[in-house]
Amino acid sequence: MRLDAVELRIIALPMATPFVASHGTVSTRTSVIVRIISGASEGWGECAALPEPTYSDEYVDDALLTLRDHLVPLLFTADVPLTSSDLPALFANVQGHPMAKAAIELALLDFEGRASNISLAHLLTPHPPGPATNVPAGVALGLAETPQEIASDAAARVAEGYRRVKMKIAPGRDREFVAAVRDAIGKDVALSVDANGAYSLADMADMAALAELDQFALSFIEQPLAADNLLDHAELARRLSTPICLDESLTSELVTREALDMGACSVVCVKAPRYGSWLQAVQVLDHCAGLGIDAWVGGMLDGGIGRAANLALAAHPGASLAGDLAATSRFFTDDICAPFTLRKTDGTATMSVPAGYGLGITIDNDALHRLTIHTEAIRR
Ligand code: MG
Repeated sequence: MRLDAVELRIIALPMATPFVASHGTVSTRTSVIVRIISGASEGWGECAALPEPTYSDEYVDDALLTLRDHLVPLLFTADVPLTSSDLPALFANVQGHPMAKAAIELALLDFEGRASNISLAHLLTPHPPGPATNVPAGVALGLAETPQEIASDAAARVAEGYRRVKMKIAPGRDREFVAAVRDAIGKDVALSVDANGAYSLADMADMAALAELDQFALSFIEQPLAADNLLDHAELARRLSTPICLDESLTSELVTREALDMGACSVVCVKAPRYGSWLQAVQVLDHCAGLGIDAWVGGMLDGGIGRAANLALAAHPGASLAGDLAATSRFFTDDICAPFTLRKTDGTATMSVPAGYGLGITIDNDALHRLTIHTEAIRR
C-alpha cells in the first residue's frame, strides 16, 4: 500500500464499573486508535496501553507521542508498497514501545485483510486446520473489597455461561477470596488467579499465601512475582504444585522460549501488544503448540478493535486454553463498533470469531465522533 495519511485519536470508553488490579484502577478506558488511509481504503488499529503506566511503562499519552513523533513518520519513509512484514526493520531503531508498534501493525493487517478479502483470523492462522470459528469465553474479575463481593460476582458470570474465571489477587486479598470464589462456582469451572507481580519470593508471608492456593485446583497462578525476575519464578514453580503462567515477563518470543526452557512458567499468556507484534504472537502460539505447552490470549481492557483482534488470535490452534475474551458489556457501556456478545452452546459461553475481511468490524462513525477526545492527522 502507498500510505497517504495516518489519523491518531484518543477515545474514552465509559466503563460499566471501575476495574481494579494490584497495579491500579481504571475508571474510564482511554486508548489510542490508529487509522491508516491509502486512497479510498483504510485500516484500523488500537493501542493496548492503559491510561496510566501501571501494567507496563507504556501509557496512552506516551503512546500518542511515540506514534505521532517517531513511528508514523517512519511509515512515510518506507519503500512502496508498505506491508506489515516491513515493520520490524522499519522500527528497529525505536527502542521499546511495543504496544504503539503493535497498533500500527494491526492497522496494516486490517488493511491487508480488507484488500485481499481475507479475515484477520485467516491471516494469523493461514495453514490447515485454519482458525476456529468460535472460541470459549473467559472473564477476568478485578480485585474486590470482600470475599463475598467477588464470590457473588464470579457466580453471576458463571450463570451467564462463562466456564473460565480469572480473578485478580494481591497480598491480603488471596486465600479467603479464592476460597470464596471456588466455593461459589464449584469444581467444574476453570479458575485461575492473576497477581500482576504483587508477591515476592523473599517475603515469607507472600510465599505462605501462594502455597495455600495449591488447595483450590487452580488452572494456574499468573505473574506472581516481578516481571523482570524469571529465576525467582523458576524457583517458585519448583515449590508449588499449581502451574505458573507468565504475562508481564514475556516481552518477546525469545524471552518466552527462555522462560519455558528455564522452568519459569509452564503456561503462557500471549498478548500481541506486549510483544509489539501480532505476527510475533502467532510465532509464540506456534512454538507453544509444538511443545505441547498451554497458551491463551490475554486482554488489556480492550475496546472493539482490540477485542476483534484478540478473538482472531485466539482462533489459532495454539491457543489451547480459554483467554480473557469477554462480552463488551462486561466492561463498557459504549464502544466505536457493535458490541461483542456471548453465544451459549450447551450452557457454555463462546464468542464468534469475526469472519469479515480484516478485523471484520464496522466502525460506527457517530460513536467514534462521540467518544473521541483528541484527534490529529499526519499526512504524506
Ligand atoms: Mg495478567
